[in-house]
Amino acid sequence: MDFKMMRWVPFYGPVKNRYAAYFLRKIIHATCPEQYFVRFMSQQVNPCANATYALTFDFDFEKDIEAFPYLLDMLKEKNIKAGFAVIGKFVEKYPDIHKRAVDEGHEIINHTYTHPDNPHWAPDRYFNKLSYAEQKSEIEKAHEVYQKVLGIECIGFRTPHYGNLHTESVYSILSELGYKYSSSTAACAYKGFGAPSEHSHGIMEIPTGCSLHFPLAIFDSWNMLRKKKPFLGDDNLFVEEFDATIKVVKEHNLFITHYFDPYDIVVNNKLERVLDSINQHNINTLLYRYLIF
Ligand SMILES: [Zn+2]
Repeated sequence: MDFKMMRWVPFYGPVKNRYAAYFLRKIIHATCPEQYFVRFMSQQVNPCANATYALTFDFDFEKDIEAFPYLLDMLKEKNIKAGFAVIGKFVEKYPDIHKRAVDEGHEIINHTYTHPDNPHWAPDRYFNKLSYAEQKSEIEKAHEVYQKVLGIECIGFRTPHYGNLHTESVYSILSELGYKYSSSTAACAYKGFGAPSEHSHGIMEIPTGCSLHFPLAIFDSWNMLRKKKPFLGDDNLFVEEFDATIKVVKEHNLFITHYFDPYDIVVNNKLERVLDSINQHNINTLLYRYLIF
């Protein structure tokens, strides 16, 4: 399929039928992913003057906490700031490493108090099945822990497990709590073409991004490497895919953000290569809090 024909390919977002979306994704990924990526992303309104990358990490398991010191060392060495979606329970259990992250200029993103359905504390709970009051309490309790333990006022949120477990109720809860943004959707299935935009209740939504050869998937370690049939399944290909994506984002002056699981990205030296790629392409990096209207 050539680039001209792309205008006839509907975007993934409005395709509601799961099977139609699945096959459309297969076809696009197999035939014209790069063209689709450029066409899709180029429609965004980049909130920044230049090509910009926002790096974030989600800490869901003990092994992610184990990777934390090395992650902070590496970010310091490469002079890059990141957003950390952390859960209240872990901040209570490991206050020092979280304090170090704050002291070193990184941003804390509210990832709830227990991260339903985290096996450590909330194995049978799902965020989207909680009542409004329970969801609010999960976010509020985490906020209080960040205030008490880290001395910060958090303004951003990420739904545990994103898309499928994300609910519209989040936006009015965040508004009630004085929050400014959420980053809980996938770029390919959300308005804005991968750039932040106002969702509702005065809350900005910052969708997490895709990659050059898989524009209709979230580019994260779970999708690319860890799930049953991963898109890539190879650490070197993962780094190459990241690098190719950043190169095109830079060339076309786009905005993109990703999230990674700390343990997954630290093994086999992927983190250092990813950070080097950001620096080599000389792309601006930015924390979510600087995107606020
Ligand atoms: Zn998570």
